[in-house]
Amino acid sequence: MTSEDLSKEVILDHYRRPRNRRALDAPTATASRTNPTCGDVVTVQVVERDGRIEAVAFEGHGCSISQSSASMMTEAVAGSDRATIGRLEVAVRAMLAGEEPSADAGDLGDLEALAGVARYPVRIRCALLAWDVLDEALGAGPGR
Ligand code: ZN
Repeated sequence: MTSEDLSKEVILDHYRRPRNRRALDAPTATASRTNPTCGDVVTVQVVERDGRIEAVAFEGHGCSISQSSASMMTEAVAGSDRATIGRLEVAVRAMLAGEEPSADAGDLGDLEALAGVARYPVRIRCALLAWDVLDEALGAGPGR
């Protein structure tokens, strides 16, 4: 299996069995955005307490990249504080811009499966949609 095949498997797995795809009972913030070029819709809900994201969930529909990216994003940020999420997001955005990973980026886990999307500019919006919505929910941009 090539690494490209493996990445496709990871993406399809998140698409078919999305993690944290539900509505939260008492979110402290909710945001929603669409990606009109592809028809993707992602809504993100968070429960933030004392600067930490205690729970995060998403709902939406659209292409496999947008939905799997949202699933991966929720897994990656759950339980983290804003500074950690900010570093992670900077690393993800750099990866999707086709940049070489920096030494302090750390392990991106399943998110690394999206690295190949950098070669398809139209799909980068799909992959970033969930992160843009998270930014809006947290009221901040990358590197917060
Ligand atoms: Zn899409």
